[in-house]
Amino acid sequence: MVAAAVAARRVPPWQVVLAAAPVVIVAYMWLVSLGSATAGTQVALYVSAYCTLTVACLVTAWRHRGLRPVMLLMAASASCTVAADSVFYFLALVQGQVSYPSVADIGYLGHYVFMAGALLLIVRRRTPGWDGASAVDAAIVAVSAAYLTYEFIIAPTMAVTTGNLTTFVSVAYPVSDLMLITVGSRLLLGAGPRSAALGMLGGHLALELYAGAAYSIQSLNGTYRPGNHLDAVWMASAFLLAAGVLHPSAPKLVAASSAAVPDATVGRLTTLALAAMVAPATLLVQSYGGAPHVRVAAVVCMILFLLVLARMTGLVAAQRRAAITDGLTGLRSRRFLEQALRAEAARSRRAGHPLGVLLLDIDHFKNVNDTYGHHVGDRVLVEVAARLSRLVRPGDLVARYGGEEFAVLLPDTDTVVGRQIAERIRQGIAAAPIGRHPITVSVGMAGVASDFENIDDLIRAADRALYAAKNAGRNQVAAAALPLSGGLPQRAGR
Ligand code: GH3
Ligand code: MG
Ligand code: MG
Repeated sequence: MVAAAVAARRVPPWQVVLAAAPVVIVAYMWLVSLGSATAGTQVALYVSAYCTLTVACLVTAWRHRGLRPVMLLMAASASCTVAADSVFYFLALVQGQVSYPSVADIGYLGHYVFMAGALLLIVRRRTPGWDGASAVDAAIVAVSAAYLTYEFIIAPTMAVTTGNLTTFVSVAYPVSDLMLITVGSRLLLGAGPRSAALGMLGGHLALELYAGAAYSIQSLNGTYRPGNHLDAVWMASAFLLAAGVLHPSAPKLVAASSAAVPDATVGRLTTLALAAMVAPATLLVQSYGGAPHVRVAAVVCMILFLLVLARMTGLVAAQRRAAITDGLTGLRSRRFLEQALRAEAARSRRAGHPLGVLLLDIDHFKNVNDTYGHHVGDRVLVEVAARLSRLVRPGDLVARYGGEEFAVLLPDTDTVVGRQIAERIRQGIAAAPIGRHPITVSVGMAGVASDFENIDDLIRAADRALYAAKNAGRNQVAAAALPLSGGLPQRAGR
C-alpha cells in the first residue's frame, strides 16, 4: 500500500491508471472463470473501471477550469454506467435473472446522452465556427455506419423483438451508438490540435463502439453471456479514457484550432473512400449467387465513386500547387518561401547549422518596362528566374519574392559561402543579355549561425544589405551576418 502510494506520487496518475488497467482486467476475468462464488469481488472489480473514470473526470474538472463543463458531462456519463452496472448486478444477485429491459437500461442509455453532450462541447471549443468540410466528412462516415447498423442490427432486432418497450430499448442502443459515431467522427476528423489525450479519447470511443455493436449482435443471436470478453473491452475503454483525461495534454482537447479547414491528407481520403465503399461492397457480398444486375450495379457504384474521388484529389493537388507557385515564372511563391524558412530555421537551430538568405532585385527594371513594354519585362522576369534556378545548388530554394525581386534560401550555408554563391549568381545573370537587353541584379545576403531567435530579422538584414548594394551603385553583392555588429552591413568587393 505504502509502496504504491509512494510510486503513485512519483509516477504521473495517467500512467498509474494505464499500468493498473491490465492487472484489474485480468484479475476480473480470472475471477469470472472461477464461477459465481466470488461474485461480490467480480462486481467490485468491474465497477472499479467506470468509478476510476468518474473520479479522473472530477479531478480534471477541479484542476482545469476550461475543461470543467466537458469533464462534468463525462463524469455524469461514467457515473450513469456505474449506477446501471450496480443495479444490474444487484438485480442479478437478488433475482438470479435480470429481466429485459430493466431499470439498469435507463443508466446505460443515459450514459450515451451525457457522452455525446461532452463530445459536442469539445467539438464546439475546438472549431468555434462552422467547419463545413469536417461536418461533411463526418456525415460520410456516419451515413455508412448508419447503413451497417440498420442492415445488421436495427432491422433484425425489429424483426425478432416483441413488445413495444423491448423493441424500443433494443433499437435505442444501436441508435445511441450511431449518435456517438457521428459526433466522434466529427471530433476526430475535425481540425484542432492532435494530442495524446485526444488519441486516448478516440481509443475509448472505438472500444465502446466495438463492444456496443458486438453486444447487439450477440443479443440478437442469443450468444451474449455476462462476463464474456466484452466486459474486458468495456473495462479497458473506461481505463483508457481515465488515463486520457488525466494526461497532461488534456487541456489541448478544448484548444481552438488554428487552421480553418483540416488538410485533405491521404489518411482522411482513405477513410472517406472506405466509408463510401461500405454499402456497395455489402450489397456485392449479399447478392453473391443472386441476380447479376445487382452485382453489376454495386461494382459500378464502387468504380464510379473511386473515379470521382481521384478527380477531386487531383483538383485539391492542383490547387495546392497553385497556392505555392508563382504563375509567371513557375518559381515558388513568397508564402511558400516564408514557410520553408521557418521550418529550415527550426532545423538549423536543432542541428546547430548556419543558414543564409539572398534577396535579389533587378537593376533599373522600370526602364525595360517603360522602353519595351510590360510583355518584354515579363519575358525578362521569366529568363532571370530560369537562370537563377540553374545557378543555385540542388537543395537551395528559389522564390519570386515580389514584382522583380527574388529570394534564395541557402540551408547549411555560412556567410562566407553565401557571399560566394551570391557573387556567382550576380555574374551568371549579368553574363549574357536577355534578348537585346543587358540585365544586372543587386544582391543582399544575410547569414546567421545556428543560435538566432527571429527569422524576420534575417529577412530584414538581407533587405538592408540589398539596399546597401543598390546605394553602392547596383550590380553588386552586399552581405550581413547576424547578429548585426552595429551600422550597415559590410559591402563585398566587386
Ligand atoms: P532599382 O534598380 O532601384 O531596383 O530600379 P527599378 O527600376 O528596378 O525599380 P523598382 O525595383 O522599384 O521597379 C520595380 C518595377 O517592376 C516596377 C513595376 O512596374 C515592375 N514590375 C513589378 N512586377 C512586374 C511584373 O510582373 N511584370 C513586369 N513586366 N513588370 C513588373
Ligand atoms: Mg524592386
Ligand atoms: Mg529593381
